[in-house]
Amino acid sequence: RNGKDDNGVSGRVRVAVRLRPRNSEELKNDADFADYVELMPELKRLKLRKNNWDCETFQFDEILNETASQKRVYEVVAKPVVESVLEGYNGTVMAYGQTGTGKTFTLGKLGEEDAADRGIMVRAMEDILADTSSEQGSITVSYLQLYMETVQDLLAPEKDNLTIAEDPRTGDVSLPGATSVEVRDPKSFLELLEAGEANRIAANTKMNTESSRSHALLLVNVKKSVRVKQDKDMTVPNENGASLQISKAHNVPTIRKSKLLIVDLAGSERVDKSGSEGHLLEEAKFINLSLTALGKCINALAENSPHVPIRDSKLTRLLRDSFGGSARTSLIITIGPSPQHRAETMSTILFGQRAM
Ligand code: ADP
Ligand code: MG
Repeated sequence: RNGKDDNGVSGRVRVAVRLRPRNSEELKNDADFADYVELMPELKRLKLRKNNWDCETFQFDEILNETASQKRVYEVVAKPVVESVLEGYNGTVMAYGQTGTGKTFTLGKLGEEDAADRGIMVRAMEDILADTSSEQGSITVSYLQLYMETVQDLLAPEKDNLTIAEDPRTGDVSLPGATSVEVRDPKSFLELLEAGEANRIAANTKMNTESSRSHALLLVNVKKSVRVKQDKDMTVPNENGASLQISKAHNVPTIRKSKLLIVDLAGSERVDKSGSEGHLLEEAKFINLSLTALGKCINALAENSPHVPIRDSKLTRLLRDSFGGSARTSLIITIGPSPQHRAETMSTILFGQRAM
């Protein structure tokens, strides 16, 4: 597979798997837990039991077991992406998995009661804030929901159908109508996430849908004033007053822009189309459209294919400039411990495998 370039950026997506600890209900039914999934973190391998006789083993970039702390998950999954964003590259962190397996806990947990619980969004912002002083740059945030191929603004609920703009020359993607709020400290960022979450609940109540049916996207734009070394020809007067041509390495101030996307994907469970009618059927098709398109793009990247079908859905169009190329992308696959979800876990794991 493709190697790393000068920036240490690998073309393909890095994939980690995280197993959620058993909840109280699952602990009560402890007897039911034949270990259907076995993690081997040192070997970065995971074994899934298909039945009494048959196991299948999968290799990933990182295996995070049920005792992995939020801090460790951040360091393994997101920190390299954040660091590369601070160096001027775009990056994406995504969570994929069945509803209830810990996507939102991993990405969006605020950790107000216990700071150790803070998820990737909060930790990423803390690192970005620590690196970017206000006189040197700016950090702005947009928070969006993508539902049935419609982009909604979670910071301004009346904006319920945003347009995605693509610069045909540079390939840069933007959302010209989206609310963009400058963040100066962690506290104001937490308030922003809370407001966004409240708007998400309100919007979903209004539309009569579950948040697990939509994708939530946090977009962090980082602008930094940096000095770029450039050779410059200068004309300076010599001591006789005549001009003298010299060439001098010169520090030229430039504004460097990069962005980080953190995407809490819709639940990966297959909505049963056969049993769905009307709106639910439409919804199922749309969720599958975005996740299927994402899978195809991840697959194309892994195979180094020249054709990445990025235009097939709004989700992949939004990811266009933060995915592949010089961008660093990290995918966390979340799975649950209950053997009841064996089939979903298998399909989730296979999604992650296709990115490898
Ligand atoms: P998802 O977003 O994938 O639907 P959630 O993040 O909402 O799943 O997690 C489902 C439940 O499990 C929540 O109550 C959450 O707090 C809990 N949970 C998830 N992951 C962990 C974890 N690693 N440690 C403790 N609790 C977790
Ligand atoms: Mg969730």
